[in-house]
Amino acid sequence: MKKNVTIVGAGLVGSLLSLYMTKRGYSVNIFERRKDLRSEVITAGKSINLALSERGWSSLRRVGVDDEVKKIAIPMYKRIMHDIDGNLTEQPYGKPDQAIYSVSRVELNILLMKLAEERGAKLHFNEKCTDANLEEGRAVFQNTSNNIRKTVSSDLLIGADGAFSAIRKKMISQFDHKYEYNEIDHDYKELLIPAGDNGDYLLDKNALHIWPRGEFMVIALANLDGSFTCTLFAPKKGKNSFENLNTESDVEEYFNTIFPDFAALVPDLYSQWSSNPTSTLAIIRTFPWHVGGSSVLIGDSAHATVPFYGQGMNAGFEDCRVFDDLLNEYDDMQECLKNYTKTRKPDGDGLQDLSLHNFIVMRDKTADPKFLLQKKIESKFANLFPEKWIPLYTMVSFTTIPYSKAWEIGMRQENLMKNIMNMPDIEKTWNSDEIMQKMHDLL
Ligand code: FAD
Repeated sequence: MKKNVTIVGAGLVGSLLSLYMTKRGYSVNIFERRKDLRSEVITAGKSINLALSERGWSSLRRVGVDDEVKKIAIPMYKRIMHDIDGNLTEQPYGKPDQAIYSVSRVELNILLMKLAEERGAKLHFNEKCTDANLEEGRAVFQNTSNNIRKTVSSDLLIGADGAFSAIRKKMISQFDHKYEYNEIDHDYKELLIPAGDNGDYLLDKNALHIWPRGEFMVIALANLDGSFTCTLFAPKKGKNSFENLNTESDVEEYFNTIFPDFAALVPDLYSQWSSNPTSTLAIIRTFPWHVGGSSVLIGDSAHATVPFYGQGMNAGFEDCRVFDDLLNEYDDMQECLKNYTKTRKPDGDGLQDLSLHNFIVMRDKTADPKFLLQKKIESKFANLFPEKWIPLYTMVSFTTIPYSKAWEIGMRQENLMKNIMNMPDIEKTWNSDEIMQKMHDLL
């Protein structure tokens, strides 16, 4: 008989996971709290677009849906930094053909749900998981339209229900699983740069734009319709923080003085400001990620993170691929889930370390000429000795080297580079053989 899988949450990860599970011959039911996204009009301020990179692509490729996703994705080959006077600096993400991709969260979710249905998964909307028996793989759902409750039994219950997961909550309360929720001191708000006349892009669409300002920043990623979804990340309190941005004149003065070239592209800035929500950001750690051979967490429910490396979704997609590898390896589900927690938890932690680290890189270091020089030196060394050095950004975004390993190697490289950057006259000597030799010796 076909084995039954219940997935809680038809978000990005739950929808993709269903493709893996139907491919293996499981009978898959997905229960989603929200109404069907395909019937909703998406309002501004909830139109997040995401950077999709190699870990995500390789997971999409395994189930043969990468070509479909490519049709809604825009390659970004570089960062473009905007300084306070509107001067631009560029930094390629990798080799000339290497790009991360801007994709609308909603469009991607809709596509993955459509593919899930086409490949045999059954989707049930307006069904909120309110309780579960994790040892038995049973979940209780309450319909949000008519309040009818039902209990669904399955061989495997999967919590793909995001940062505020009901399945994780049950694991913590009933099985005493470890749990940490750490909200960071920064909030975010989305703003939109509209398309120009005839749907033209007002900025280079093949780049991720950053306005780095030390403690805070704005970023912009292109949409297919010529607009850019932008996000301000700023402290909750203190100087240049959200708490001081209340009136129209506060907001206009802030943007006109700190982000003048950005402000010039957004004619209805204050109207967007007041209608779009300000949202919090947090890191979630939990352990273990499973109960016996019957229940397991995947995606944000296991490791929700801050968005600064653009890896939350990519990590969730990678969970699906790693889980698939383990299903190939173990016939016994209990062994499989045990090994999934064991292999994946250190990478969940690595993801958190990397994401927090990259916030400082993006908001602060990308405006620092010494940092840009360091990256140039690393890139030259990596080209000369590709087997000895893969830059951290490349490891995270263009390979599937486990996050924990990438973090460990990256921190070793960072220490070595401190020595190099402290060498006298490095600004003049950086391109010399001597510097390359010194790096080689230090390795
Ligand atoms: P979710 O997308 O949260 O989906 C969970 C689903 O479960 C939802 O549909 C929800 O309605 C449903 N659900 C919740 N509770 C219940 C319940 N009780 N019963 C039934 N259903 C339920 N990641 C990247 O890789 N690249 C980026 O560039 C990037 N940028 C980001 C920018 C911002 C501002 C933010 C906030 C996040 C960003 N992320 C990025 C992270 C990414 O959005 C998440 O990692 C990803 O959405 C996680 O997918 P998920 O399916 O695990 O969870």
